[in-house]
Amino acid sequence: MSLNTLVEMSCPHCQKRFVENARLVRPGGKAWCPECEQLFALDETNEAMRQVLSAAKAARRRRKDRLADLKLRWADPPQAATPADTPRTLTDVLAVLDALLQRLDDENKAA
Ligand SMILES: [Zn+2]
Repeated sequence: MSLNTLVEMSCPHCQKRFVENARLVRPGGKAWCPECEQLFALDETNEAMRQVLSAAKAARRRRKDRLADLKLRWADPPQAATPADTPRTLTDVLAVLDALLQRLDDENKAA
């Protein structure tokens, strides 16, 4: 599964078909023909080019969706919120134990 999405287009100069990265195929942009080595505008007023541009847009959206999906699957599991009174250091642990022992003492006294 490649994350590089390619769209096929034909060169308006030599008519040779070639593929270009969808990320580079945008309205108002330019493409470079690897065959005749000419730069040409991605003209939205041209029907064939409009189809290429919309294919590129769809390809970019699919890529974005795939990336979002991957991110979701690779994300760390949500961390449970740490209660404010959860001991973090040995001193905290001892303080909590101390408080528990004190409470047991108090309960024993009360009993
Ligand atoms: Zn060409």
